[in-house]
Amino acid sequence: MSINVIIKEGKEYLMNTYKRIPIAFTEGKGAYLTDTEGKTYLDMVGGLAVSALGHSHPAVVNAIKVQAEKLLHTSNLYWIENQVKLGKILVENSFADKAFFCNSGAEANEGAIKLARKYSYKNYGEGRNEIISMTGSFHGRTMATLSITANKKYQEGYAPIPTGFKQAVFNDFETVLEAVTENTCAIIIEPVQGEGGVTPADKDFMTNIKKLCSEKDILLIMDEVQVGIGRTGKLFGYENYGIEPDIMTLAKALAGGIPVGAVLAKDEVAKSFEPGDHGTTFGGNPFTCAVGIAAMETVINEKLWENAELIGGYLAEKLRELVNKYSFVKQVKGKGFIAGLELEVEGAPYVEKALEKGVLINCTSSTVLRFLPPLTISKEEVNKLVAVLDEIFSEMGGV
Ligand SMILES: *Cc1c(COP(=O)(O)O)cnc(C)c1O
Repeated sequence: MSINVIIKEGKEYLMNTYKRIPIAFTEGKGAYLTDTEGKTYLDMVGGLAVSALGHSHPAVVNAIKVQAEKLLHTSNLYWIENQVKLGKILVENSFADKAFFCNSGAEANEGAIKLARKYSYKNYGEGRNEIISMTGSFHGRTMATLSITANKKYQEGYAPIPTGFKQAVFNDFETVLEAVTENTCAIIIEPVQGEGGVTPADKDFMTNIKKLCSEKDILLIMDEVQVGIGRTGKLFGYENYGIEPDIMTLAKALAGGIPVGAVLAKDEVAKSFEPGDHGTTFGGNPFTCAVGIAAMETVINEKLWENAELIGGYLAEKLRELVNKYSFVKQVKGKGFIAGLELEVEGAPYVEKALEKGVLINCTSSTVLRFLPPLTISKEEVNKLVAVLDEIFSEMGGV
């Protein structure tokens, strides 16, 4: 179909939940996407941090083909070999002792909330159920996850919103101390806030939270849905802080483009879930886990987080040159391959202009251009991005 037909019929048949850019893609390879009109783009969005291995990575494609011919789905009524294997990979490479598989980031966070409350209920009885989240956070769009998501616009019109959630100010430990009561059971935090403007948690802030959590047996939930799997220059974002969470959630990049989410936890916490306490039909099925295994093995065997550190450092350096060159470009943000460029003006017009020039970027928090390249990206591709940004900034100025 041509793009005009896709848009026309899309408006006719789909719910109007997304403000979409008027293009559609038909093919992808590595860091490049091709649209219905045959135009090629350098993809610095990566399906919002999903396509960490780039598009059509041979390991992912092969795993899909092989497993599709064998078996797609059975049920968690039975043991699933691939689920066990993917669980083993995640446990052996993280702080965690146990894994639970689901289908998305929000669902993983729902699972984490339920696990934290169940742990508290089993150890302390009823009432100790409050969860503290941070300003600027994003944890998903289900009823419970939107009640911990900071931006109130996501809650409008959905009352009553589930209760038992409080907010502290991101990177301000005093406000965490103020929010904590004897009823606090967990604190949920993103190591680097993605939707909240590509802002990393400060090291002191994280260490203080960890210390507080250990003292009061409050569970530390790390939402690594966006930054997990190599993006911050470590396999998992928490490793940057020299601390360990009690629960971690993953999704986006976990299976290289196939929807998989996971809740990981230490034994002490994980054992609060017993048969019947939590579940999901599709979670951890033979197909999605086969692809997850292929994606995780690729990331781990090739140590792709090192590329995020190295080339991510190079990207930050090149972006800093733009900060020095243009007065309306305020600062470089982020870590590794979740990079941001904060402007003093709205970012949307620059996103549109970049698109015209064949580069896909995204804007978050109105003024922060966000770059989420595949972990496999090269210096040349970074140079291409920066050259286009330079061109756009010089052509458009601070609009
Ligand atoms: C994307 C995201 C989510 C939600 O994931 P979905 O798969 O869209 O439900 C949760 N937390 C963070 C940090 C995210 O970036």
